[in-house]
Parts: sequence; structure tokens; C-alpha cells
Amino acid sequence: MDIAITLTAAPESKDLLLGLSAQLQRDLNGDLEFGWLSEGEALDLILALAPEEKVAAADLKATVAAALGDAHVDFCVQPAQGRRKRMLIADMDSTIIAQECLDEMADFAGIKPQIAALTERAMRGELDFADALRERIALLRGMPKTELSRVLAERITLNRGAQALVETMNAHRGHTVLVSGGFTYFTRAVGGMAGFAKNRANQFIWEDGKLAGVEEPILGREAKLAALNDEATANGLSPEDVIAVGDGANDLSMLKAAGLGVAYRAKPVVAAEADAQVLHTELTTLLFFQGYKREDFVTSIT
Ligand SMILES: [Mg+2]
Repeated sequence: MDIAITLTAAPESKDLLLGLSAQLQRDLNGDLEFGWLSEGEALDLILALAPEEKVAAADLKATVAAALGDAHVDFCVQPAQGRRKRMLIADMDSTIIAQECLDEMADFAGIKPQIAALTERAMRGELDFADALRERIALLRGMPKTELSRVLAERITLNRGAQALVETMNAHRGHTVLVSGGFTYFTRAVGGMAGFAKNRANQFIWEDGKLAGVEEPILGREAKLAALNDEATANGLSPEDVIAVGDGANDLSMLKAAGLGVAYRAKPVVAAEADAQVLHTELTTLLFFQGYKREDFVTSIT
């Protein structure tokens, strides 16, 4: 079996990549085939294992992590076969976009500290997701619907690499799904900006143009997992064919079910359990992890 070890460096650490790969060659004491995915930015090391050789994935990850030390390099260790995925499922807030939508709404209402504290605790897994969402919506009750377009226009920005990630997966016939414990008002807009084929999220309830609640049942951690399974099945795929990315505790079930689950600048509980994490680099690192070269990337951004 061949193991793919992919290293992606942040600009400040790109000069370290060659030295790190030489270090890994020594540490792994194996037959490593080396290839740039993007010169000076991302490289692949393919480790050929004889059929009788068994190396625990966790041991390999630990060896790579030790060699990288505190270099600003993200990495992934996985079987080389099957790493090009056929579906992407992504969380929205603090993953595809740089904000938490409810926190930004709260800022317009003058109550950002209270709401942001609840968001943070929910994303760390310290509060029940659905309860924390109901509580935040209760605090925002009465907010005029007209404010939402201001939140979208003035606050919401895609994270770097989001559009290239989604458009490249689309161009290679991958199915792309945005799934959020937030709200369809935002997932529709953000899904359109980034190019997702599908989006799923919760729905606000409005009364007389003012926020009155959230529709039940709330789409939480288990609903994200269900979205992965439903969308994969509908496209003739298995969870193994899926790459998932997220940052919060409510993303963990879908990250663990996916063939490759990637924690993006994630809460500690998420980073600890994901297959790989993006901590120093951009969302395009998910393309490098799948073996795409930079020249394969597709983006409509000019
Ligand atoms: Mg999130």
C-alpha cells in the first residue's frame, strides 16, 4: 500500500519544505517518492509499503508531526489510493466564511459579547448546540429583517481559497455541499458566492418583518452527518468518497464519517479528532491533500 504524506507550507515556512522532506526520509527510513504539487508551497511524499508491512496511521502522523515541529506547515497522512474525493461537504461559519453570522447580527443589535460567548462555548462543545442556538435567537428576537442584508453586505467575507476549493471540485465533477447550523438566508448567499451546488441550514421565523424564532427541528450535529450521508447516497457515492471540512464541535460527526475529515482553524476538540487539520494555510490545502496540483486549480476570481 502506498501512503501519501502531503505537506503545505505557509509563506513564512516555505523555505523549510525541502529540509523537512529530507528529515522525513530519514525518520521514516523508507522508500519515499517526492513530487511538488506547487513548487515551494506544497509537496507530496509517497511512502511505498510492502504488503506485509503494517504501519499504524497514528504512528505515522505522530512521526510527521514531530518532524515538522513548530514550522507553519499543514500536513495530511492517508492512503494514496482513493484520496481524490468525489464530494465536498463544508461547514460555513468560521470555515468557508471568516465570521459567525449570529455574532455579526448581534453586533448590529448591540449585544455581540453575549451572543459571541454563547457561540464560542457551543462551538467548543461545552453547550448543547440546539439549546445554544435557541438561546441566541431569543436574544436577537425583534431584529428587523432588513438588517440581514446589511450583515451580508458589510460583514461577510469568504475565507482565502474557498472559491478555488469549491470551483475546482465542481470542475472535476465533484458534488459540493454547504451545510450550516446557521441559517439559509446566509447559506444561499454564501453558497452562491463560493459556487456550492447545494446548501442546507436552519430557517428563521419572521413575524411582521421582525425575527421571532427558529424553525424546529434544529439542524445540528446529527443533521450535518445526515446531510453527508443523504447527499453521498443521492450521488451514488459512499462516505469514503467524501472530504469534509469544519471548525466546530457540531461538525465532528460529519468529519469522522467522511473519507477525509479536515479541521479548519478549529476548536481543540475538533482538531484532536479530525484526520488532518488546516491551521497555517488556506482552504486550497484541501486540494493539495487530494493530490491536485496548483495548475489544476480553477477559480473565477481574477
Ligand atoms: Mg463553523
